Amino acid sequence: MRITNLNPDSDIGASAWFVEIDGHRLLMDAGVHPKREGRASLALYSLVQNEELDTIAISHCHHDHVGSLPVALRHFPRAHVMMSELSYFLVERVLHNSVNVMTRQRDEAGIKEYPLFTHDEVDDIEPQFQGFKYNRVIDWAAFRKTRAGLASPTLEFFDAGHALGSAGVMVRGQKETLFYTGDVCFHDQTILKAARFQDVRADVLLMETTRGNRALPPGFSRETEIERLTQAIERALERDAGAYPGNPGVVVVVDGGGAPAASTDLYWRTRARLHRDLRSGISSDASAASESAAARGAQPDRAGARAGREDATDGWPNLCDHRRHDEREYRGP
Ligand SMILES: [Zn+2]
Repeated sequence: MRITNLNPDSDIGASAWFVEIDGHRLLMDAGVHPKREGRASLALYSLVQNEELDTIAISHCHHDHVGSLPVALRHFPRAHVMMSELSYFLVERVLHNSVNVMTRQRDEAGIKEYPLFTHDEVDDIEPQFQGFKYNRVIDWAAFRKTRAGLASPTLEFFDAGHALGSAGVMVRGQKETLFYTGDVCFHDQTILKAARFQDVRADVLLMETTRGNRALPPGFSRETEIERLTQAIERALERDAGAYPGNPGVVVVVDGGGAPAASTDLYWRTRARLHRDLRSGISSDASAASESAAARGAQPDRAGARAGREDATDGWPNLCDHRRHDEREYRGP
């Protein structure tokens, strides 16, 4: 097994791991660096540009893990892209949103390299995406290799409990196994269960961490933090009551990651008192994505991503459509 780290940083960055096993090649994640701009934010695909890649596996749909996927596919145009079923529902909207954000940064901050890919490019690569249920063993080698009699390594997604659709990726070769955690959460959240990694056994463990090298402050817990934030919002609402009729004077900003779980907590805890003021919503960037797509005349139900909906439950018909679509699931060559 040969593993090449394509992250341009040694800290949180653009996750991308190139793995060669039994003569087959897999890329795990295709991120962008959240603190860099332009082409400097990309994973270092130039390190492996002469390698032929069979498959890309995505751990989850945060930008530092998936944000350069269209660029990766320019380097490896024949690769299938495998991910969990829920990530399959999300990935297009995340990438379209990314185009909108980059376009805005080009206009507002003068970053001429942006956008690094286009809406059309995202639409073009969509047929290469394949969604799989957790804990299903999948062959991933290129078809022509298995046809020639070479055994395919397998891949299995394990629920990582970090964000909707997040997965740890198990790679099993003939002799060796590798487990890549992606981002992981080991406790239950309001709308997400903790990671289910109990049965994982592997020769090599690849683990990324943002907060793994420092202990939590004494008394710190998810419960205490949510309570502290809820009280801060209540204080602000009381202070500003009447100052701006119809406007509570508080803006709760969430991103598309772990934050929906936190905002759901807040919603339920404060609902009785603040029902009219706090709503579960979508980020300003996601709204911008919707507006821009609408402005481009996009079909509102395309990828379930482009309707400017306030309440996520309205998206269920789209998810159901995609679930049916997903039944074309790739089952190996
Ligand atoms: Zn993440």
